[in-house]
Amino acid sequence: MSDAKTPQFNRRRILKSSLAVLAGGALGHTAVAAAAEAEIKNVNPASSPSALKITDMRYAVIVKPGPSPCVLIRIDTNQGVYGLGEVRDVAGPQYAMVLKNRIMGENPLRIDYLFQKIAQFGGGARQAGGVCAVEMALWDIAGKVYNIPIYQMLGGKWRDTIRIYADTTESMDPKEYGRRAKERKETGLTWMKMDLGINMLKGIPDTVMQPSGMDKWELRNQPHPFIATEVSDKGIDRLCEYVAAVRDNIGYDMPLSVDHLGHIGVKSAIRLGKAFEKFNLEWMEDIIPWFYTDLLKEITEASPTPTLTGEDIYEFADFENLCKNHVVDKIHPDLATSGGILQTHRIGDMAFRHGVPMAMHFAGTPVSCMANVHCAAATRNFLALENHSLDVPFWQDLVTGIEKPIVNKGYIKVPETPGLGIILNDDELKRHLKPGTGYFEPTPMWDEEQSWDDALFS
Ligand SMILES: [Mg+2]
Repeated sequence: MSDAKTPQFNRRRILKSSLAVLAGGALGHTAVAAAAEAEIKNVNPASSPSALKITDMRYAVIVKPGPSPCVLIRIDTNQGVYGLGEVRDVAGPQYAMVLKNRIMGENPLRIDYLFQKIAQFGGGARQAGGVCAVEMALWDIAGKVYNIPIYQMLGGKWRDTIRIYADTTESMDPKEYGRRAKERKETGLTWMKMDLGINMLKGIPDTVMQPSGMDKWELRNQPHPFIATEVSDKGIDRLCEYVAAVRDNIGYDMPLSVDHLGHIGVKSAIRLGKAFEKFNLEWMEDIIPWFYTDLLKEITEASPTPTLTGEDIYEFADFENLCKNHVVDKIHPDLATSGGILQTHRIGDMAFRHGVPMAMHFAGTPVSCMANVHCAAATRNFLALENHSLDVPFWQDLVTGIEKPIVNKGYIKVPETPGLGIILNDDELKRHLKPGTGYFEPTPMWDEEQSWDDALFS
C-alpha cells in the first residue's frame, strides 16, 4: 500500500529486546540463542507481535457488475503491517466503521477475543458484514506478522486448489439457457448452478397460483408461507424443461444445483423436489427462510432432491441446530455473514461430525474471495466455493501478488504467501470506486464511541 506506515521495529531491535528478556530469566546461553534465532526466523522482521496495536481503520467502496457495491476495509497498525477485509456485498461501510473505536489500540493478533468483543454487532445476512470484514483483516495481519498463509494457522491444508462453482445468466428460452450453461462448462468448471424460479413462469398462464394485488413489499419481505403462492403441474413441467435443457448441454456427470426458486409454499417445494429427481441435482437452495427449521426439515425429508441453506445465517449456533437435526442435507455459509474465517472453519468441522457437507456462498471481490479460499483449504468437509464474477473482466485485476488467472479452469490455487496472499491494485481499484467516494481516506468521525452498548448483561 502506498500510504502504509514505515516499520518502527527492525530485526536488531527485536533481537535485542528478546535477548534482554530471556537473559533475565533462568535460561542458559544456548537456550537464549535458540529462542532468539527461532523468533527471527518465524516472525516478520518488521513486526514485534506483543507490541502490535491497531491505529486506524479506513475503507473504499468498489462498484462492479453483479452484487455490488463491495466495501473493502484496511486496518492499520503501529508497525506498518496492515490487514485487508471486505464487508459482505451490498452492505454499507458503516457496518464496519461502527466497530472502529472498539478495536483501536487493541492487539490485532487477539483474533478470537476481538471477534467476541464485536460479535454482538453482527446479525443475519448483510448485518454481519462489518464484524466479518474486521475478522478477515485481523487474520491478514497475523499472517503477515508470522509470515505464513492463513490456512496454516487454521491447522493446514486439506487441498491445494479450491473448486469454484458458478451459474450463468438466465434465459427464458430453454435452448438458450442450455447453450449458456455449456459455454460456462467449457471454461473448465466442474460444478454448476442455475437460477430457476417462478419468475421464469411470468406471463405463462396457469403456472403459478398467487393472489392478485400484492404489493412489492409483500412479495419481497413476507416470508414464503404468508403469500399463498403455489406452482401448478404446468408450471413444474415448464421449470423441468429448463433443467432438462441444461442437463442436455452439460451432461449428468457434473454436479448441478438450483437456486432462487421464488417464494413458494412448502408443498410446492416438495413437489418440485420430486419432479427434479430425474435430473440428479446436487441441491435446491434456500427454498424457504432458514429459520423455519421444522418446515425445512419437512421438505428435506419428503424431497428426493437434496436441500441446502446458510448464506444468511450468522454464527455457529444456528448452523449447529441445522446440522445436528439434519434440517437440510448441506450447508452453505457466506463467510462474510457466518462470522469470518475462524467461525466458518469451526462450522465446517462441526458439520463434518454430523455428516453434513459444506459449500460456500460468495459474491464479492478477490479480497473476500481469498478469505474463503484459506478457510476452504483448511476445512475438511468443503465442497465448492461460489463465484459471481467470472464474467467481470477487471475482477481479478483488483489485486496483485497472486497467480493469475485467479480462477483457472474452475479452480483457485491456494496461495503460499503470508496472510490472505494479496496486495491491492490501487490504480485499478480507483477506477471502480463508487462515484463520490474516496480511496481509504481518513475516518476520524468514527474514532469516538457512538453509544454505550458493551454491557449485554448485569
Ligand atoms: Mg443463493
